[in-house]
Amino acid sequence: MQIAPSKAVTIHYTLTDAAGVLLDCTREREPHAYLHGHRNLLPALEAQLVGRTVGDTLTVTLTPEEAYGERHEGATTRVPIKHLATQGKLAPGQVVGIRSEQGLRRVVVVKVGKFNVDVDLNHPLSGKTLVYEIEVVAVRDANAEELAHGHVHDVGGHQH
Ligand code: ZN
Repeated sequence: MQIAPSKAVTIHYTLTDAAGVLLDCTREREPHAYLHGHRNLLPALEAQLVGRTVGDTLTVTLTPEEAYGERHEGATTRVPIKHLATQGKLAPGQVVGIRSEQGLRRVVVVKVGKFNVDVDLNHPLSGKTLVYEIEVVAVRDANAEELAHGHVHDVGGHQH
């Protein structure tokens, strides 16, 4: 079965930047399960997966524009720690979630104060060229519930 819109797809991937620095890897955990064509992956990444089948391996290189955009300087802002979705001790460089009207947003901690924290609003992967080494592990038809939710319910997919 080929990858196409509304297929439930499972992939293993290793993500590095242009210099080969490891950013993320599914090999030490469950593979990543997603619903194709429902904006769960970067569009430029999904485009390269169309038509692939189980066992296929591919390398996809995305420019910052195709991935998470360029970095913007001066995007640091101060937020109350109580507005963070992340609990526990905070440290510079840590990726935390802040609740916004658009939902949960991932930001990077710059400086930690007593009641407030300075965060960089750039996406943690902004400004980076991303290189994905991908192996297609499984492809199947999504069921009606998954299509209604816009995500898959496999291990490695959406958890309710
Ligand atoms: Zn669901």
